[in-house]
Amino acid sequence: MRLTNYFLPISKEVPTDAQIVSHQLMLRSGMIKQSASGIYSWLPLGLKVLQRVEKVVHEEQQKAGHLPMLMPTIQPAELWRESGRYEDYGKEMLRITDRHEREMLYGPTNEELITDIFRSFIKSYKELPKTLYHIQWKFRDEVRPRFGIMRGREFLMKDGYSFDIDRPMAINAYNRHLVSYLKTYERLGLQAIPMRADTGPIGGDYSHEFLVLAKTGESKVFYDGASQHIKLGNEYVDYEDVGGLQRTVDRFTENYARTEETHDLSLFNQLPEERQVEARGIEVGQIFYFGTKYSEAMDATVTLADGSKKLVEMGSHGIGVSRLVGALIEAHHDEDGIVWPKAVTPFHVAIVNLKQGDTEIDKVCEQIYTGITAAGLDPLYDDREERAGAKFATMDLIGIPLRVTVGPRGIREGMIEVRCRSTRTVKELPINSVVDYCIEEFRGFE
Ligand code: ATP
Ligand code: MG
Repeated sequence: MRLTNYFLPISKEVPTDAQIVSHQLMLRSGMIKQSASGIYSWLPLGLKVLQRVEKVVHEEQQKAGHLPMLMPTIQPAELWRESGRYEDYGKEMLRITDRHEREMLYGPTNEELITDIFRSFIKSYKELPKTLYHIQWKFRDEVRPRFGIMRGREFLMKDGYSFDIDRPMAINAYNRHLVSYLKTYERLGLQAIPMRADTGPIGGDYSHEFLVLAKTGESKVFYDGASQHIKLGNEYVDYEDVGGLQRTVDRFTENYARTEETHDLSLFNQLPEERQVEARGIEVGQIFYFGTKYSEAMDATVTLADGSKKLVEMGSHGIGVSRLVGALIEAHHDEDGIVWPKAVTPFHVAIVNLKQGDTEIDKVCEQIYTGITAAGLDPLYDDREERAGAKFATMDLIGIPLRVTVGPRGIREGMIEVRCRSTRTVKELPINSVVDYCIEEFRGFE
């Protein structure tokens, strides 16, 4: 992309109404624009990041055997009356009446809708297990929308629903979600700690939330300091290996880690003092096992081999896709702006032309631009007639991992400067090796 063709409404001023750094940086870098309280447009740069997050979420879900689909945002009230949640959900639910006076709602979550789909088509135990998921916009009329897309009213969520024949199988589905979520966060460049959590309006008795530690996080958390060092890394996950999966889950959940709602001071105090950590975190996902809560209310059964009927065991599992974009910025920024991890960066390489209009410099910039594009990477070429300082500040603000600077001195010496956004280190490379260097830097992150 050439900057002169792009839409990047950046601003130098720190917006006064944005309290946390991710919200400030998203506004300043032209990623989002508020349309109403808690409701945002995703401008081109923001959308690119959102879509990269979505892609990683999709890939990790499908590796775990979960099936993508798409349910609508608008749902009929009748289904929610069946589960009893139409009244329970209260003011958080946006209720709509259509032209025929039928009651509808903008979905805050989809347990009812998916249970209705399940009971319409799945009749036999032989068709289980099944996990269906989608990535779709939700609406919750939050009392206090704040921190930009972090706590929006309209937000993008991945929500998946597991259907199993019995409790052990349902726990296996829960474990698949726990591990695939950990993989997802790690791939994105985040560490999220699974913590025992309260189930809230979704219901059920077993739940974990995933928290990214951040001073600005809304959740108060208590955990064993040892939890912070557990990672999957390059470990291969075999989702068919039930025992192996359980061992991985145990490894990640055996230490004390809880949110405020489930915190147990006497258990916490049994930890050695130096390992008792109290902190704040951003909830980027939650998984629930709730058994037959919805299948019972909505009569979702399967026929067993002996002809009898059994209520299906369910779980629901959510990732805050749009919130993750904010969480990523909270975790990866410095005083100059965003520092995107390679897996989610909107552009891979920033090309800065220091003397736009100079035949030789323009030519080298074009060569590098074409080479990087041909390799399947996405460069952002600053081809504006602007001061060097302003060009550097823009690229720093929007956080592109590598910056290639082409100017008169470099051209004279046949060397190009390549700078790493996160370490701020600079390398001088011969002109014809710049493209290969960039390709190598992004291997595995395309
Ligand atoms: P919270 O406690 O933050 O209100 P929740 O527990 O009600 O969230 P879930 O039903 O668990 O939310 O939804 C799954 C995920 O969706 C959450 O873990 C969170 O990452 C994200 N999410 C929930 N509410 C919002 C919101 N208002 N804005 C952005 N993301 C949200
Ligand atoms: Mg939650």
